[in-house]
Amino acid sequence: MEKNELISQIRSQLPKLPLTFRYLGALKEQEECSNYFGLDYKPETIYALQTNDEPVGFFYKQISRFIHPVAVNSTEQPDSLPEETATITMPVAIEPDKQFKLFACCFPVKGASRSIICDIQRQHFSFIPNILYDLLVQDSDTTFAEMVAIYGAENEPILREYFDFLLDQEYGFWTTAEEARHFPEVSMEWDSPLAITNSIIDMDANSDFDIPSLITQLDELGCSALQLRSFSQRSLDFFDNLLQHIAGSRIKTIDIVLPWYDGLDIQTAVDFSAKYQRINNFVIHGAPFTKFEGNLNKNLTRIIFTQEAVTGEHHCGLVFADYFVVNMTMFTESHHFNSCLNRKISVDKAGYIRNCPSMPEDFGHVRNTTLKAALAHNGFTEKWGITKDQCSVCRDCEFRYGCTDCRAYTQLSGQDGYGKPAHCHYNPYTATWEYPGWVVADDEETLHSTLENA
Ligand code: SF4
Ligand code: SF4
Repeated sequence: MEKNELISQIRSQLPKLPLTFRYLGALKEQEECSNYFGLDYKPETIYALQTNDEPVGFFYKQISRFIHPVAVNSTEQPDSLPEETATITMPVAIEPDKQFKLFACCFPVKGASRSIICDIQRQHFSFIPNILYDLLVQDSDTTFAEMVAIYGAENEPILREYFDFLLDQEYGFWTTAEEARHFPEVSMEWDSPLAITNSIIDMDANSDFDIPSLITQLDELGCSALQLRSFSQRSLDFFDNLLQHIAGSRIKTIDIVLPWYDGLDIQTAVDFSAKYQRINNFVIHGAPFTKFEGNLNKNLTRIIFTQEAVTGEHHCGLVFADYFVVNMTMFTESHHFNSCLNRKISVDKAGYIRNCPSMPEDFGHVRNTTLKAALAHNGFTEKWGITKDQCSVCRDCEFRYGCTDCRAYTQLSGQDGYGKPAHCHYNPYTATWEYPGWVVADDEETLHSTLENA
């Protein structure tokens, strides 16, 4: 099977919509990042990847070998280096008497079965084995020669491979302990001057509340990302009026989600989104065809026609690798706050103000409560502080600082609110995406033959 056919086949199985939109706005100006995390789904995402003692999947740029496990737990520091290390022939890149320092923008994150290095400046990540995480974090002040002494000469080629990889990917550099002191850490604090950073307004055929008034209120609260999500047919004129109201506001990115209607074709969608530079995602659901058009209007709007009908707020909360975001804001915010609900305020289709339209608690109706009053309500910010580090399974996942959370649909709903998002199919204990009905394989050859025989 041709690779393109394979990719289309895999894509056709994707039941996803870009409704977890929050951070996509931040990617809009990052073409490279959009390509990486955008809707051009990477087939490798569904390959079964490595466990702790298996080679890392070769479809990712990453390290392929592991230090012999016998040496891993060794805590003994030799008094002097064994003889063989004195005669090691190092490649130019390896500096045996220096320690390796990651650049301040490169953060290793450990998961249950593998780790990643997040480069929040260049906005990408690479997989690494957990043993390399330990070398970088626990043995950060150990020189290469000392590592060879600790882990044994038989592991030296693998150690060299590890650090060649890190140098090749420009994740760090060799330095002395003295020099290392002069490179301060990046602060992990997160704050925003905006009372609200993002919002969802839902609507259906019965929604009769004043949306322009809500937009004005959101602007006053500083909101910069807004999703307008319609479950019933609305003309483009309707959204045209709203977008004119948004002009001049502080709202920077807008997602529009609306049902398809006869006459709403690709060119119409392209022409409409070209008028409004703020439109980030333009999703037409319930369409007779599925098509993704990116960047046609040169302002990087993603135009998505999908056959899946978005009939209610329950279509939200999906977790996919495409939605991962590696940047400074996401990385620092998710260390302290919830990566979906923090600084979010929403209005459901009936006009009730909630953290998000799917959350059970409401904080008043828009007819008699302002967004500002709802925000000041006791309990409104309660969920803002739930981090992935506090949630079951997610706390063991290497993606936890780049993955948008969901607190409305969790595996422990009704218990403690700290469960893994229900619509996440990633298993960090096996490093596998476990999609029901999806084909998962260890390598491309197996994947091909499985698909061909399906
Ligand atoms: S909490 Fe879940 S359902 Fe609510 S907006 Fe976030 S992802 Fe969507
Ligand atoms: S397990 Fe949690 S952190 Fe990991 S991908 Fe799923 S939702 Fe995200």
